[in-house]
Amino acid sequence: MGGTVLVTGGSGYIAGFLIRLLVERGWTVNATIRNLAREPEVRAALGVPAERLRFFAADLERDDGWAAAMAGCTHVAHVASPFPAAKMPDEALIRPARDGALRALRFAKEAGVKRFVLTSSVAAVAYGHEPLDGGLYTEADWTDVTAPGISAYVKSKTIAERAARDWMAENGAGMEFCSVNPAAVLGPVMSADFSTSIQLVQRMLDGSLPGFPRIGFGVVDVRDLAELHLRALETPGLDGERFIGSGRFMMIEEGGAILRARLGEKARKVPKRRIPDFVVRLIGLFDGGVGQIVGELGRVRATDASHAERVLGWKTRDEGDSIVDTAESLIERGIVKV
Ligand code: NAP
Repeated sequence: MGGTVLVTGGSGYIAGFLIRLLVERGWTVNATIRNLAREPEVRAALGVPAERLRFFAADLERDDGWAAAMAGCTHVAHVASPFPAAKMPDEALIRPARDGALRALRFAKEAGVKRFVLTSSVAAVAYGHEPLDGGLYTEADWTDVTAPGISAYVKSKTIAERAARDWMAENGAGMEFCSVNPAAVLGPVMSADFSTSIQLVQRMLDGSLPGFPRIGFGVVDVRDLAELHLRALETPGLDGERFIGSGRFMMIEEGGAILRARLGEKARKVPKRRIPDFVVRLIGLFDGGVGQIVGELGRVRATDASHAERVLGWKTRDEGDSIVDTAESLIERGIVKV
């Protein structure tokens, strides 16, 4: 395929891999960033031919810049959304996530965009309720944001995807829409400006994680997730689909064991012990970050990515390889000293 595609949040981790892949596959990319002062740094990290990538300043919370960024685009990957490591008030995340998605949709429709792909999350699928089919969570599941203990981030992703789908039902005629719903994204980093999801591997390696709480994640590799976005953009005839992007669910303790087994000396600071649940609960009383994981202790939120496999022929690589590649790249780039 080819043509011009808008990728929002061009400074982000997932967007970076997607931009590279789109350019490789013949697309010209318009990318939004909040502040054009960052363009040289983001361009240098991406390393794609200058003439195939243009940057536009646009913020999720303001209209300025969106019309110019969309002009001439037939496709949009709306990737930008706040994903902070620190705990934040609900509205500080929900507002930009929801209003940004609606803003991007509105400007896309006005620009005559044909296909709009929203980067949502398994956060919008697998929280606050048991899986509908009693086994794995699927695209039929929706997070219940009214359940107790739902984090601001999980709320923001659920509310944004719901709002986008409601907007499409009312206003979207003529524009196709689908969402990609990734699990925890790992893989090599392009620079020291990486996503919150990478921080866990960073903390295992640098010794700042004192032990393993009993929590886990489905893992998806950032390179494969870029491919999933590309297929969601390019495959004809999609409209309204959700595509879970995940590999196997694993407890983080297992991730640590993989690092120790495959990285040898470089993994010498990776903890070996488990932190008992009661200790995590106790620390969670006064540490907001730890408090956020208390409700996750022992929970398995395994999701089923077979829909993406069936419809798009997509599958992510072995999660052990993703974890090791994350670690190797953090070490090679000098981001973690081991
Ligand atoms: P990231 O590196 O933090 O990227 C987030 C991007 O959103 C950045 O480019 C950021 O811009 C932009 N952004 C945030 N608030 C904004 C605002 N108010 N206006 C304009 N841009 C704004 O994280 P990521 O992992 O690549 O996340 C990308 C998307 O994937 C997000 O929608 C996230 O929810 C979703 N996702 C991520 C994971 C994961 O494990 N990483 C899993 C599921 C879904 P700045 O650089 O200016 O901050």
